[in-house]
Amino acid sequence: MKKHLLITLLLCLLAAFSGCATLSDERTKAYPTEDPGLIGAGAELYEQLSPSAAVEWRTYCRACGHTYVFRCADEAIGLTQSELASRFGGWTVKSFSREFAILEREIDGYCPDHFLLFRKGKKLRVYSVSEPELELVPLVDESAAQYSFSKEELEELASGIAFDSLLELDRYTESHRPGGK
Ligand SMILES: [Zn+2]
Repeated sequence: MKKHLLITLLLCLLAAFSGCATLSDERTKAYPTEDPGLIGAGAELYEQLSPSAAVEWRTYCRACGHTYVFRCADEAIGLTQSELASRFGGWTVKSFSREFAILEREIDGYCPDHFLLFRKGKKLRVYSVSEPELELVPLVDESAAQYSFSKEELEELASGIAFDSLLELDRYTESHRPGGK
């Protein structure tokens, strides 16, 4: 019974490992392939990201202080610097050439290296952080009734406690289980 939470979490994680597919699945409809009509567009063509360009998306995560870097050019190929800036409003174009662009942003949350434990009503809920979206994804719920927490800990759990591994998270919950180790 004691290992239950950790094992459930690991299974959930394995199931969630289809990561990067989301972004590439959506790309095909958004961008027409090379249009011969553009050849006449002159200098403009050379200001667009080439089909072989690399694009880096850098997100500074304030909650943990890490910078999450995601490399994917799918949604940016063929765009000029100003098109890139207007299409991805939450991002700042930090660097731009025909073959390489860097976009940056800051968010309040965590990078995918962490797991978050929240208390929601009568449940303890574990979240991971999705890639590349950096959104909280619920992994598993468990009744909070079998654990005991101090008032301070309950306050921390209301806004979420971050752990660097599921093992650490498991140790934390187990240490708050009366009769646990
Ligand atoms: Zn982090």
